[in-house]
Amino acid sequence: MTNSDTPTDCSLCEWLPDDPDYVFLHETEYWRIVLAPNQSLLGRCVVSLKRHSGDLADQTPEEVLDWLNILQLLEKSLRLAFDATMFNWSCYMNHAYRESPPAPHIHWWAVPRYNHPVHFENKVFEDAQFGNPYHHDQIDLLPKELHHQIAEKLKVAINKSLSKE
Ligand SMILES: [Zn+2]
Repeated sequence: MTNSDTPTDCSLCEWLPDDPDYVFLHETEYWRIVLAPNQSLLGRCVVSLKRHSGDLADQTPEEVLDWLNILQLLEKSLRLAFDATMFNWSCYMNHAYRESPPAPHIHWWAVPRYNHPVHFENKVFEDAQFGNPYHHDQIDLLPKELHHQIAEKLKVAINKSLSKE
């Protein structure tokens, strides 16, 4: 199997636009942004490549340049929506290697960090580890309605950012 073949059990390839947990926010020719289920850090997103490939070295120049557009758009939008202070971007793909054979699929965790509490709807979001790596076991799965309100706010900010470009 080559890198670009779609395996039958890749959750990123199987993602559908009506996914209630990984909520669709925006896409370009090569990348898709969804809101991550875990909102322990408000506005946490996943940016995934729209074809099955598990090796960053396998990306095309067009995909890399488009990724820069996505990064700029998402950072701008997260600042606009929630006053994010800075961002942690990471690409791990570790979990894929717990399976045999592994089927890694390039995706980036876009994690906004905050030097201040953020009030959204009736909840206060705090970044207790600001200035340090965030704890991966810090998980906050919100009620569906609130999760979708975050997605809506971020979608509006993305559209605003796009219109100002
Ligand atoms: Zn895939």
